[in-house]
Amino acid sequence: VSSVELTRDFLDRIKSEDTKYNSFITVSEEQALADAKAADEQRATGNATVWTGVPFAHKDLFCTEGVATTAGSKMLANFVPPYDGTVTANFRQAGAVCLGKTNMDEFAMGSSNESSFFGAVTNPWGLSNDQKRVPGGSSGGSAAAVAARLVPAATATDTGGSIRQPAALCGITGLKPTYGRVSRYGIISFASSLEQGGTMARTAEDNALMLNIMAGFDPKDSTCVDRAVPDYTATLNEPLKGLKIGLPKEYFSDQLSPAMEEQVRNAVKEYEALGATVKEVSLPNARLAVAAYYVIAPAEASANLARYDGVRFGYRCENPKDLDDLYTRTRAEGFGPEVKRRILVGTYALSAGYYDAYFLKAQKVRRLIQQDFINAFKEVDVLMSPVSPSPAFVQGEKSSDPVNMYLEDIFTIAANLAGVPAMSVPAGFVDGLPVGLQIIGDYFDEARLLNAAHQFQ
Ligand code: GLN
Repeated sequence: VSSVELTRDFLDRIKSEDTKYNSFITVSEEQALADAKAADEQRATGNATVWTGVPFAHKDLFCTEGVATTAGSKMLANFVPPYDGTVTANFRQAGAVCLGKTNMDEFAMGSSNESSFFGAVTNPWGLSNDQKRVPGGSSGGSAAAVAARLVPAATATDTGGSIRQPAALCGITGLKPTYGRVSRYGIISFASSLEQGGTMARTAEDNALMLNIMAGFDPKDSTCVDRAVPDYTATLNEPLKGLKIGLPKEYFSDQLSPAMEEQVRNAVKEYEALGATVKEVSLPNARLAVAAYYVIAPAEASANLARYDGVRFGYRCENPKDLDDLYTRTRAEGFGPEVKRRILVGTYALSAGYYDAYFLKAQKVRRLIQQDFINAFKEVDVLMSPVSPSPAFVQGEKSSDPVNMYLEDIFTIAANLAGVPAMSVPAGFVDGLPVGLQIIGDYFDEARLLNAAHQFQ
């Protein structure tokens, strides 16, 4: 099959099916078909990569030259970047065909994809019983699009769970790499010290193929680590005999329903059958992760989002009276409620009178959480846990209760605070809805995570 045929097929599917899901913000039909044609010509020369002509999509947080990049916000609804980010450029160079940009929570803030200026995304699962469910967030568009077979793979980002939680809720596979493994250059910033670009696809193997072209040093991102990139597909079939699995006891507490726990424990049993050994470990400070995150992430967001001033790019209010009016109305009109809440919380936590009490304290807690992981990985190779406390919830159920929404990420946030890599792998169903198994690894141990996930699938 030619890339043009394949691309046309997926574009047709998006056209007929995505009215149900709203998983795309932009579909770049013409560009995709032109790229597919070029890819077919490239293939004919015999000089192609595995990605040449393969369709995929970008989360709308990745800057794409000449294609609108909105971050799910009114603030950037008309922003067309004049450049490609590094990940975007890597996919382009490999010859992959970008079908478009996927929906997301505004500026990646959320766990349900309900905060997007472009409307909520509907999870392809659970639609038959008439209740629209969230796909998770913030990378809900990428997850729903892959789950609905509108695209075989999609990029995503994870600041506190935004790859793993939507992957789990949509029944697909997602990987958040180690902080510094993938360049953040050209990814619109939310909380710079926490976020990583990563992968979403049906299988671990496809995630490995994505990471192969995404990972690597980039002089344009000062937090990107200069370290060799292995071929992540090369070790997928390594036997798991002797793999040491740790179950953090704090993640199997009363917050977890028996049905969710059963799925995770069943998955762990399968690993035992494959020759892994299992022991309980402790992450004593894990219970502080959500509180620390919701100081640090908003603090960094308040600084990062100061650039949206109505002057240089993005939304600008009509007829400003003076400079103050321009700033005030641009930001009041351009940002949605969740983004405003974070800016307020972040500005407060960073203010002179409260910096020590909140921001500094949260940074200290963060260090303790990191140490918990360092200690755990002296004992075991990987940690396993649930991804989210429950399967996909009904749209609207948590949208008026921010704290309840924040608790969606109790199992995922600690990995971002520590910077370690983590995956979500489909692990059965609860109430007919998919749930995920989280596999957390030591720094730069993505190959082992992908290997473990691949053997399970
Ligand atoms: N749900 C978390 C938040 O709202 C994480 C989001 C993310 O990982 N981008 O901040």
